[in-house]
Amino acid sequence: MSKAIGAVSLVGAGPGDPELITVRGLKRLQAADVVVYDELAGKELLAFCRPGVELVYVGKRCGKHAMEQERINGVLVERALAGLRVVRLKGGDPFIFGRGGEEMAELVRSGVQVEVIPGVTAAASAGAAAGVPLTHRELSSGVIFLTGHERPDKPESTIDWQALARTRMTLCIYMGVKKIAQISDQLIAGGLEVDTPVAIVSRASWADQSSLFVSLGELAAGTTGEVPAPALAIIGEVARFPAMVSALAETASVS
Ligand code: SAH
Repeated sequence: MSKAIGAVSLVGAGPGDPELITVRGLKRLQAADVVVYDELAGKELLAFCRPGVELVYVGKRCGKHAMEQERINGVLVERALAGLRVVRLKGGDPFIFGRGGEEMAELVRSGVQVEVIPGVTAAASAGAAAGVPLTHRELSSGVIFLTGHERPDKPESTIDWQALARTRMTLCIYMGVKKIAQISDQLIAGGLEVDTPVAIVSRASWADQSSLFVSLGELAAGTTGEVPAPALAIIGEVARFPAMVSALAETASVS
């Protein structure tokens, strides 16, 4: 077996607030010769790079990739094989809807060593931002991460939304805002009540983060309007938690 010569760190940048990267991720960033980053990977983090670092932007704008995936892989492989310390900085966690697996496979195929440094994924950050625990002993015994946007070349959705409705678990939907009305419709058809609470969390951990609390029925009816991107939907009984907590706070202050 050939020995890997170069190395790339796939680093999770977290959801946007630069303070949410891990200590190890920050260390790799500070030591890097090359940083390949995309749109959601907290640009403020780049200020921690050393002078003279090569910064390569490969994000997407208006749905168009600044650089195709093959080109991104090419840049990573070339720089790593040249002996440079390469960081591939990715929003959230590299292995959750981040194509980290695809990049890793390509790097390994090219004889490059890969290290993965996990990050705070958007669902965790959205839960924190909205005050919604993703699991709760009385409300939900599990959480499922899903994408609302599958590859456009897939003939039909591989996600059985109706079956998911029957799990009664918390559903965290990434990249789903555009399709949220159809998704909600399917979940209702699968047996979720129209008054199932939903939190739509926009720009979690950013200075302008916001949360919208609605019902699944309202989403299915398309009455909730636009929300700022990026946004994530948390569907399930746990989304009732902030209301429960404020009721508790009211009784506490009456003493
Ligand atoms: N690897 C990333 C996810 C990339 S997919 C992670 O682990 O978080 C991009 C989707 O993530 C967006 O469409 C949105 O649904 C979600 N997302 C990313 N950052 C977010 C943020 N700060 N607030 C809310 N949703 C976010």
